[in-house]
Amino acid sequence: MNAARADIAILGGGLAGGLVALALARLRPDLSVTVIERGATLGGNHVWSFFSSDLPAGGEALIAPLVEAHWSGYDVCFPEYARTLDTAYRATTSHRLDAALRAALPAHAIRTGVEVRSCTPTSAVLADGETVAAGAVIDARGISDYPSITGGWQKFLGQRLKLAKPHGLTRPIVMDATVEQVDGYRFVYCLPFASDEVFVEDTYYADGPGLDRDQLAGRIAAYAQGHGWQTLGIVAEEQGVLPVVAGGDFDRLRSTAGHRAALAGTRAGLFHPLTSYSLPDALRFALTLAAQRDLGGAALANFSEKYARSHWNKAWYYRKLTALLFAAAAPEQRYRVMQRFYSLNPRLIERFYAGQSTLSDRFRILAGIPPVPVTSALGVLTGLGARPRTLGH
Ligand SMILES: Cc1cc2nc3c(=O)[nH]c(=O)nc-3n(C[C@H](O)[C@H](O)[C@H](O)COP(=O)(O)OP(=O)(O)OC[C@H]3O[C@@H](n4cnc5c(N)ncnc54)[C@H](O)[C@@H]3O)c2cc1C
Repeated sequence: MNAARADIAILGGGLAGGLVALALARLRPDLSVTVIERGATLGGNHVWSFFSSDLPAGGEALIAPLVEAHWSGYDVCFPEYARTLDTAYRATTSHRLDAALRAALPAHAIRTGVEVRSCTPTSAVLADGETVAAGAVIDARGISDYPSITGGWQKFLGQRLKLAKPHGLTRPIVMDATVEQVDGYRFVYCLPFASDEVFVEDTYYADGPGLDRDQLAGRIAAYAQGHGWQTLGIVAEEQGVLPVVAGGDFDRLRSTAGHRAALAGTRAGLFHPLTSYSLPDALRFALTLAAQRDLGGAALANFSEKYARSHWNKAWYYRKLTALLFAAAAPEQRYRVMQRFYSLNPRLIERFYAGQSTLSDRFRILAGIPPVPVTSALGVLTGLGARPRTLGH
């Protein structure tokens, strides 16, 4: 049976699709929306974090129902120093996104356990052959192929640990790089969700995408033990292998979708090239989309293409920084680049994560990045030197 035709069909109920649906429900309640997700729940299995300074105007209210924990600052630890920064940090979770969407949309608007096979700007074909027609289609099914993209990988295993006693952390450790440096730049990330519950993630900025789950689990256990934390159990676990982008071709990336419908989220290339984080961009995109006057299929496809291209073009500087990190710095020395970066002005650091670095920030970040030799740095910046490797086909 065909479902009633919706004004907007969102394919993929993950972070970006979910935020577009929430933005439309809030700002365009006159429109009907359908979310089609192949998983049993919306949002998958994630903890998505962000700095409060990443949020675009109007983003606070939209993201609020998704926030499970917030802290007024965070720590970073490097071999040569540790620092507390006063930027607020928040963590959202998939199950909160699922609950928020179910509260915002009528039950018939959410179709889980349904796989999309193909789409056009105004229709989608499902795995069982059903065709869903809509005023406009937004494809937010995530990204898995990276043609022409060069760079490296950010890979990690995160576990939410239940402890026998309080861990003593009062704020997140966003980077603890005092750990052994293996497989590129390695750091541990800790989110204290409750006094006896901490999310510990072992993270690598590596040349290759390979991830040995058991090895990383062992390192998380060793890290917990090193802090005197006795683990009673693992409440949740997640892993990721995300692209860190040094270069590429927007049109080739766009063409992997295989259709001309509007794209959202990582599928549209809307993420920070160096951190691979996409929440701030997904939020900004959702709010901008909901404010468009024409939300028809062709208009939305056009809008999303222009938006994503502009994002790609504006992000060139962060791609150059990735190139410096991966091509000019020896893997075991990469931590020193971040160690220096975190010694800079906290407002500059905020603008960097928000993808809003000013011209003077850009000079400041680049001025004397250790331990990159000047000749390698110049080679990377001019495109004449060592090149980062290709990630996709
Ligand atoms: C474990 C992990 C942790 C992360 N942590 C952070 C973080 O802290 N902060 C941050 O900003 N970023 C983080 N990221 C990076 C990035 O923001 C996330 O990957 C984010 O979920 C991407 O959003 P998206 O909507 O583009 O894709 P997704 O959230 O992956 O959503 C895509 C959805 O489409 C569905 N789908 C795919 N194919 C089909 C199909 N054929 N039919 C129907 N449905 C389909 C999927 O099931 C999925 O639900 C993390 C990534 C991972 C993997």
